[in-house]
Amino acid sequence: MPQAPCIQYLQDFVAIPSVNPMGRSDMPAGIAGERRYAEHVREKLRGMGLDAEIFGDPDRPSVVAEARVAGALDTVLIASHLDTVPVDHMEIEPFDPVIKDGRLYGRGSCDTKAGMATAIEALERVTRNGTLRRNVILVGESDEELGSIGARDTLRQVADRGVDWAIATEPTELRIVTHHKGIAIARLVASGRAGHSSAPEKGSNAIYALAGAIRALESLHAELAERPDPILGAPTLSVGVVAGGAAPNIIPDEAWLLADRRLVPGDTEESVRAEIESVLSRHGVEGVRLERCTVEKGPLGTAHDHVSVQHLRAALLAQGLAAATGTVAFGTDAGVFEDAGLRGVVFGPGSIDRAHTAREYVELDQVEAATEVWVRLFEGDG
Ligand SMILES: [Zn+2]
Repeated sequence: MPQAPCIQYLQDFVAIPSVNPMGRSDMPAGIAGERRYAEHVREKLRGMGLDAEIFGDPDRPSVVAEARVAGALDTVLIASHLDTVPVDHMEIEPFDPVIKDGRLYGRGSCDTKAGMATAIEALERVTRNGTLRRNVILVGESDEELGSIGARDTLRQVADRGVDWAIATEPTELRIVTHHKGIAIARLVASGRAGHSSAPEKGSNAIYALAGAIRALESLHAELAERPDPILGAPTLSVGVVAGGAAPNIIPDEAWLLADRRLVPGDTEESVRAEIESVLSRHGVEGVRLERCTVEKGPLGTAHDHVSVQHLRAALLAQGLAAATGTVAFGTDAGVFEDAGLRGVVFGPGSIDRAHTAREYVELDQVEAATEVWVRLFEGDG
């Protein structure tokens, strides 16, 4: 049997490094960043006769193309992140897309270049056949693996394009993922007054103040356990980084911490900020301020009767596949979209158990099945 176009596209994509620099300075320029892959996808989409362009942060570019049809059922955003995680300690050649035993190996093969390759083949087929029935905006967004720069740029880019619902491609083994937790990072800073350690009473110790905040945050985690989300379980809070002080003989005038707060639907930047400030005040913590609280990725909580679930379910069933819904433990750009009011789900070929691993691969039958599901969806069977 001849190889499906999506498999060839996936091989091409895996061979183009698009590693998220993850804030590191030691990553070779030849593999860091999304630009090469974004440009390749743009040219591929232009070759199909679509308007395609690069947009967003010039250092962390994203790519968008649009396929529109008269009398469209609606407009769907398909977002497939361009970046991969780093390749340190991989046990295979990360950018050599070897096919073996029904699998395609390489960094990004599963997470999530297979999502892009399959959506592109499907879009190519339905535009060529003239069977497109919904407007499709296909985006490859940068920086999903860290700060979601590309997802935020995408929201600005598509703001006036009438998007009705969205799918973020991630390896879900073709399950429809409706719920996942979100992530917020909080930075708390304690301020004191420096002095000689031989006379502590003349200074004000920022580390002692921060210690009070740490105990308050620990009790906040326990409070969060009391209000679980019915689907995702309890939100959590964990202090992950603490720093401060300059020398043993100096009373520290500053100390800080970073806390990771996992969000459930209903949690917002404002609510997380308010609960931290409340727990600090209830514990009588003084000299510590919440300097920053940022939602990196919002939680996803899409109702099972939402149009995104209905259409994707219909497309899966039309293809003779199970149409299972579920949750995942990781955050995605679908949560960033939901945070901005654009609702949708997460869906794609491959297993998250293979993503980010030393021998990342995707099963070819998952890839080919995903292409057929996209075709059904774009043709309005879904
Ligand atoms: Zn991913």
